[in-house]
Amino acid sequence: MKLFTIGPVQMYKRTLEIKKNQVPYFRTQDFSNLMLDIDKKFRECIKTDKSSKIVHLTASGSAALEATVINCFSKNDKILVVNGGSFGARFSKICDIYDIPHTDIVLEFGEILDEEKLKPFENKGYTGFLVNLHETSTGQLYNISLISDFCKKNHITLVVDAITTFLADNYNMDEMGIDVTIVSSQKGLAISPGMAWVIINKKTIEERVIKINSKSMYFDFKDYLNNIERGQTPFTPAIGIEYELDDMLTYLTENNVESRVDEVANRALYFRELLKGTDFSIPSFPISNAITPVILPENKAKDLFNWLWDNYEYHINPCGGKNAERMIRISHVGDLQNEDYDNLLKAMKNFFKEN
Ligand SMILES: *Cc1c(COP(=O)(O)O)cnc(C)c1O
Repeated sequence: MKLFTIGPVQMYKRTLEIKKNQVPYFRTQDFSNLMLDIDKKFRECIKTDKSSKIVHLTASGSAALEATVINCFSKNDKILVVNGGSFGARFSKICDIYDIPHTDIVLEFGEILDEEKLKPFENKGYTGFLVNLHETSTGQLYNISLISDFCKKNHITLVVDAITTFLADNYNMDEMGIDVTIVSSQKGLAISPGMAWVIINKKTIEERVIKINSKSMYFDFKDYLNNIERGQTPFTPAIGIEYELDDMLTYLTENNVESRVDEVANRALYFRELLKGTDFSIPSFPISNAITPVILPENKAKDLFNWLWDNYEYHINPCGGKNAERMIRISHVGDLQNEDYDNLLKAMKNFFKEN
């Protein structure tokens, strides 16, 4: 089996080694020390000051999106949501459910988020900005400096879902002016699904999180922030995933994050070069290193998906909505080699020859 999917991804051998161990009991000083060490390394990798705090959630990434919105914003806010695909739509739906006033910047497939799209919202009293920096459903990577400048100028709290851009593209939380970063386990970090982390800067904790009544028991960040002071979480975390995370962050801090980003970028470049001169094409908007969206010569994505699994045990990412039949997405995150892309492309060509 080989995963060309963006989450879960093809996991590295070192992670699989950790995964097989018995998990220990966690209300201990040893586990607290592990968690405090994880936080230190995490801040280093995501490039934020030690005054930023990390909420460890045992839940998938979408729960972290929801929890972040209800702990950072209320009915008194006015939020801009970049709604350029199914993950942007998720942020919008969360605001709807909790009656948080919001305006969606709706982008059709292929439409780029540029200065013109933000201009109408200057000086309009917006207080929050929600963006999936890499909108994984389409592959578009938004321009963070454009967004960040807009938020700074308008004194807006910037929340970034970095779930598929962190460790695939350069990410520097503080330098990029990001107030809150959301990350989940099974994407860029290439570890097991089941956990998400929300990294919040001091300003946002003081001005928002501690003042807002999140009206949730499991997702009340105040409880998480109090507990993490001593290296604990309010509820049982996915202990095994914390060990996988610790190992991955150790690897990243010892080898530096940039080399991992380069590794992913090189695979993306390699695959995109391979596609040149074939019947497969890549959309023209800016894309992340995490995945390559591939437009097919014929609208047969579902058959291709099944055929690759049946014949090669390859899993690729299908698309939803209008792109369901004409586009697929190929991941460059995880333990994949150039040779794997040679084989994948050969298989994709075979499919169109035979079908
Ligand atoms: C995968 C992903 C999520 C979270 O999805 P879950 O299935 O809940 O883990 C959120 N945002 C983006 C951009 C993603 O790619």
